[in-house]
Amino acid sequence: MQKFGGTSVADAECIKKAAAKIIRAKEQGHQVVATVSARAGMTDELIALARDITPEPAPRELDVLLATGEQMSIALVCMTLNAMGHPAISLTGGQVGILTDSVHTKARIQKVRTEAIRRELDKGKIVVVAGFQGIDPDLNITTFGRGTSDLTAVALAAALKADLCEIYTDVDGIYTADPRVVPNAVKLKAVSHDEILELASVGAKVVQSRSVEVAKKFRVPLCVRSTFTDSPGTVVCGDVCGFEDVPVCGVALSLNESRITIAGVPDTPGVAAKIVGAIGDRNINLDMIVQSFPIQGKAVMSFLVKDTDLREALQTCERLKDELGADDVSSEAEIARISAVGKGMIAGKGVAARLCAALGKRGINIEMITTSEINISVVVSSADGERALLAVHEAFRLDELPEVEPLAETPTGLQLSESDTMEGLHVQLVEFDRDQAELKIPGLRDEPGQAGLLLGALADAKINLDIVLQNSCSSGISVTVKRDDVARAKQVVDAMSPRLTDEPAQVSTDIAKLSISGVGLRSHAGAASTVFGVLAREGINIEMIGTSEVKISVIVPEADVERAVAALNAELMLDN
Ligand code: ADP
Ligand code: ASP
Ligand code: MG
Repeated sequence: MQKFGGTSVADAECIKKAAAKIIRAKEQGHQVVATVSARAGMTDELIALARDITPEPAPRELDVLLATGEQMSIALVCMTLNAMGHPAISLTGGQVGILTDSVHTKARIQKVRTEAIRRELDKGKIVVVAGFQGIDPDLNITTFGRGTSDLTAVALAAALKADLCEIYTDVDGIYTADPRVVPNAVKLKAVSHDEILELASVGAKVVQSRSVEVAKKFRVPLCVRSTFTDSPGTVVCGDVCGFEDVPVCGVALSLNESRITIAGVPDTPGVAAKIVGAIGDRNINLDMIVQSFPIQGKAVMSFLVKDTDLREALQTCERLKDELGADDVSSEAEIARISAVGKGMIAGKGVAARLCAALGKRGINIEMITTSEINISVVVSSADGERALLAVHEAFRLDELPEVEPLAETPTGLQLSESDTMEGLHVQLVEFDRDQAELKIPGLRDEPGQAGLLLGALADAKINLDIVLQNSCSSGISVTVKRDDVARAKQVVDAMSPRLTDEPAQVSTDIAKLSISGVGLRSHAGAASTVFGVLAREGINIEMIGTSEVKISVIVPEADVERAVAALNAELMLDN
């Protein structure tokens, strides 16, 4: 299975290079299926065309329009292959039978039929399939969302049980950061599913994160390489070795996100569920959810949505405002999210401190911080975005990353069968950890470097932080640490006042961390809303939230944690 992106089919010259890769695989004795994107810029052009006619084109008609970009490419690629003496046939997503739900412009693949493809392969033909599109139960054309020709490729590879899925693009692999922004980024020989899942979903567009989800779930051997060179590329696999002492393996910048802030939210159970549920019902993903600690029973809640979802998400929040009893809903579009990702940060190593200090040193103000197990993300102003990315890449010395090797066969714990829905949510485990305490550090002074100073002092005292959340400087920082460390952590913080803050830190030891692990927990908007919905129904207050592709973590009162686990297991029908 091979996939060629927009720049790989941009003009006749590029198409010939792509065709040469396809022919080479055929001549090596493989049956080849290729999927292609629309030519570079085409999808943007089609969207602009539609918006010239109406600011809100009907999603069904938009899908009919957008699918034509890929349809052009498959015809051109097949014409090229035929002219080069290799019989080829083009098929649209609908002709193959890539069956999806009916959520236009964001459809999810449910099943992939293989009969039509196999019939043509058996005739000795190369099959070229249009990426990014499928068909719903009523035969409407659907598209899956931007960048998702990668998903077509991996889903086809999974359904056909292909030996290999190669993503051909305009860079020769996955780098420690976007090489167009960070010139000394280095190419990774191999990267684990979980790390690239996380990187892809926070801005590394070199592979689309939903394609990695499917690769992980169905164990599709995946690699990313260049259409224009013969470099070996990057292998995406269950795990890698050689990274043991490296806390971070990649950084990403996303400029396509907006922040929504709801002020004056009552601090009662069910509030997060209402917000996340209402937004999730509209198939909008939200991330970096932070609630500041309440002052006189009212808190400030902030989260990010993609720019393209902002209008709808804002309307939803405005409608909820009165029902929630909140005071105000506002938004900012000019923000940048910087994320550092690495499995090595599970072991501590003061990653948050290093990242914040690097930004502080350059006078870049951090407007928001969240962490999950293998990702720390901060929000800065978009004008600072690229500078911040360079600073973080340098802080973790990613230009000197050691060579890593793919681990031959790593059990991912997943081995799904054909009867599983291709893109279905997969929840594996609900667990809890009582050995946690929360330290709340009230309002910091609103100047660059404060978060770095605070987290640096905790790291110097060898205190490992688990979750770190900051809404804005003035609303303070919350961290969780091991219970045994919390008294020492408080001493460290209090010793820093009044430089950081005038108020003493507050400690809560009667909390526990609840974690839900699986695949697709962030990309499925419904997953978080189910979790928060269950906790709301049980009347359990959520104190802190950390979300990643593979885990949702929430801090709840310790007294409620076992009830929460039982209710979640029942709802998610897990029998552990
Ligand atoms: P295609 O059209 O082939 O799908 P994309 O434009 O979607 O290609 O993705 C390739 C681009 O991703 C590269 O040109 C590069 O600028 C960008 N990119 C972002 N992050 C990374 C990264 N960590 N490693 C490599 N490329 C990256
Ligand atoms: N053509 C689609 C896009 O530009 C899909 C893709 O390129 O992967 O988003
Ligand atoms: Mg792409």
